Amino acid sequence: MFAVLILAALWFLQIVFLNRFYESMKISEVTKVGDYLRSEYGNEGFETKVLNYSQKKGMTIEVIDEDGHLIYPLSWVEVIMNPKVINEEDFNDFFDGVHGVNGGTEDFKISKMKYKDLDNPTVVYAGYLGKNLSKDYYIMIRTVLQPVDSTTDILQRMLGMVSVLSLILSLILSYFISRRLSRPLVKMSRTARILGSGNYKVHFEDAVYTEIDDLAKTLNYATNELTKTIEVRKDLIANVSHDLKTPLTVIKSYGEMIKDISGNNEEMRNRHIQTIISEAEHLTYLVNDLLDLSKIESNLEKINLQPENLAQIARDSVERFQIASDRYDYEFNIEEDGYTTILCDKKRIEQVLYNLINNAINYSKKEKSVTLKIYNQDNKVHFHCIDKGVGIEEDKLSYVWDRFYRVRDNHTRPKVGTGLGLSIVKNILEIHNFEYGVNSKFGEGSDFYFIAPQYNLKN
Ligand code: ADP
Repeated sequence: MFAVLILAALWFLQIVFLNRFYESMKISEVTKVGDYLRSEYGNEGFETKVLNYSQKKGMTIEVIDEDGHLIYPLSWVEVIMNPKVINEEDFNDFFDGVHGVNGGTEDFKISKMKYKDLDNPTVVYAGYLGKNLSKDYYIMIRTVLQPVDSTTDILQRMLGMVSVLSLILSLILSYFISRRLSRPLVKMSRTARILGSGNYKVHFEDAVYTEIDDLAKTLNYATNELTKTIEVRKDLIANVSHDLKTPLTVIKSYGEMIKDISGNNEEMRNRHIQTIISEAEHLTYLVNDLLDLSKIESNLEKINLQPENLAQIARDSVERFQIASDRYDYEFNIEEDGYTTILCDKKRIEQVLYNLINNAINYSKKEKSVTLKIYNQDNKVHFHCIDKGVGIEEDKLSYVWDRFYRVRDNHTRPKVGTGLGLSIVKNILEIHNFEYGVNSKFGEGSDFYFIAPQYNLKN
């Protein structure tokens, strides 16, 4: 298309403007020569210059006097004959308005005229040279406007060839360029289709062009992320099914035991029924935790940030804990210091505190004491949940935030927990952009903490 447009413009310019262009070119050429010769008049070598120019440029250059007699160039015959090279009528025509003619004052005049005996029009430059022996001297330059038709013809034929050639070339070129551009794209869409069909071990090839190369990189990145998500999902399903299966197996076998063995033995039966109830409870926790986690991870519920006093939330949490729980064998301490208002989603932070307190109790030994510290330091509000429980070994510290991670001793099944509590905590704190962490000494206790920026009242 681009080639066609350029060619069309060329054709148009050549056909419509060539004539006019040629004429104005001739006029400006004649004017230039005329002006130069006029400025040289009286200097040495003027005659030679006149001769040179008329030969070089194919112009007729004549110096005449006010009567139309030829002054230069003269052959010896003309010296004798003293011919008039221009009749009065023509002279008046050409020189009308030029210095000394009909009271004119112009230095020169250009006219276009058609001689009877010539096919083509002539451009005439009529300029004033000066006075010599009481007569006005003039310079007259004539140049015939050659017909441009034959030139146009040749040009058109050449242009025709050029057109065909450049069209073919541009077609070939555009074919190769588009292939080079589109081939990597075609490959990519093929790879994407393979990816879409469920084969995640694909690789998008690099390409020559930066943009396409970037696209390939982005697609590879997306593939990696997708693969990771799928791995996580597989893990999750494996974990969940495992964690569901264990309590279900226990429930089933205890049910069978009641049916076959302990049905009539009240004490034994009650013990078995209690196991079934606690396993069912465990299942409920697991399902609830899973639902919470998936809600938080998928960002289904938007977080609703409000200024809240963290110390107040801690106090409320402890109180609710004591009411809801039937266990009273532990003690709570709350230490508050300074301004402790932060911007947070109250319900979610309550859940964080609940999970941390719950762990502190679950993983305590005999000394069941939980200390919550809430204080302001350098405009940040710190929260600590400190227990004197079993603690966590150093090499396991970094795993406790993982989904379904539970520290197991001697490969026995932990009696409490789902392995999801801390990963819920982690998710909630990350949504809030709070710093968090854990310090623990195995056998001595743990300190789970997070740090939030204090809430500043604007203005
Ligand atoms: P769980 O439901 O099993 O408590 P969490 O995600 O809350 O799952 O915790 C993961 C693991 O981290 C727990 O199984 C436990 O081994 C360890 N853990 C969590 N909190 C404490 C704590 N306060 N003291 C000692 N170990 C803890």
